[in-house]
Amino acid sequence: MHRLPSTFEFQTSVETIRAHHWRSYTDTYKGCEFECQYCLYKGPGEYGRHVRPSGGSVPARRDLGIVDLGTTTDPYQPIEAEQKLTRTILEAAAATEIPLFVLTRGTLVLRDLDILRDLSAAGLVEVCVSIITLNEAITSRIEPGAPSPTERLRVAEQLAANDIPVAFHVAPLIPGLDTPENLAAMGKRLAEACGSHIYSAMLGARKPYWAVFYQGMDAIAEHCGSFETFEKAYPRDLDFSRVAADTCDFEHALPALTPLRDGARAGGATYVSENYPFLTTGPQTGGIYRWKLPTVYDMACWIGERGTVAEWPDFLAWYRGFAPSDGLIELVRSLWDSGELFLGTRLAKQNGGYVASEELLLPAHHTLVAKRAPVA
Ligand code: SF4
Repeated sequence: MHRLPSTFEFQTSVETIRAHHWRSYTDTYKGCEFECQYCLYKGPGEYGRHVRPSGGSVPARRDLGIVDLGTTTDPYQPIEAEQKLTRTILEAAAATEIPLFVLTRGTLVLRDLDILRDLSAAGLVEVCVSIITLNEAITSRIEPGAPSPTERLRVAEQLAANDIPVAFHVAPLIPGLDTPENLAAMGKRLAEACGSHIYSAMLGARKPYWAVFYQGMDAIAEHCGSFETFEKAYPRDLDFSRVAADTCDFEHALPALTPLRDGARAGGATYVSENYPFLTTGPQTGGIYRWKLPTVYDMACWIGERGTVAEWPDFLAWYRGFAPSDGLIELVRSLWDSGELFLGTRLAKQNGGYVASEELLLPAHHTLVAKRAPVA
């Protein structure tokens, strides 16, 4: 019997609904040898070189929707060469027809070209290569254990040459890491390498590692395109009384990431902003996306195209077509009522429903802007 490691419901917060189309996630290992300084999943026993199988198993089920493999740990750890647990998951997905979104920085993914080709032929896979910059002076310092950007580009090009759908995930996107010109050039280069789409997600700030991370950024300041931009987008005195994955100063962060969108477009790819839906340039369709859940971008497009106010019952009838869980519907309903669901879109709230608008929906004090600690 083919079995997958434990899978987990993914859409549990406004951040995940905003960004992601998959329904479930699973991890092959705990810990990660790539040792990125900004990793959100650092913690005792969950980071560094103590890589071990994550354990647990559940029968494979088609109603898992798209399963994201590699949400919290890269599935192509060096230990995978010997353990082959990620390969086992690919085999299980092929046998049970589960669509997989494989997120990695590892070069070992090329070992599995044979199964990936089978999955691709059935429209069951997309490999997403994670990269933050092409500047190796930076990556060698803040991603010391990971393959270089050049190697990751080679991986993407080989996957594409084997007809395996491949995208890039520019995450975390750190404002100021590159100059606008270099970021645009990177977007174009990535677009040409993958030919499909480029996702980006802003750096998430977490209190437990913030001070150490800032030290790492200080150490690479001279290699950054504009360290001043980074400091403005992510003030040193971030107030962590509110835990938010996208805690940054919107006004400074936004101009720093739009060149990536422009570069992706120039290279012929769709750009998908996980934080700011209005920057997204197109929907994902076909292949594994047949099983996707709609992102906030998709929801806003559906409402915008109606031309009239969308009331909750109409929206729900459309949304149920994607078979969301009852828990997810409940969460979406609460975010619909509070208005938080459509922050960062061009919709306006009207009589409890939503309608297309010229203006960006951003309340004066919203989740995209960091609170600064009060001055003592
Ligand atoms: S590759 Fe991903 S999981 Fe591994 S250390 Fe880097 S950010 Fe964390």
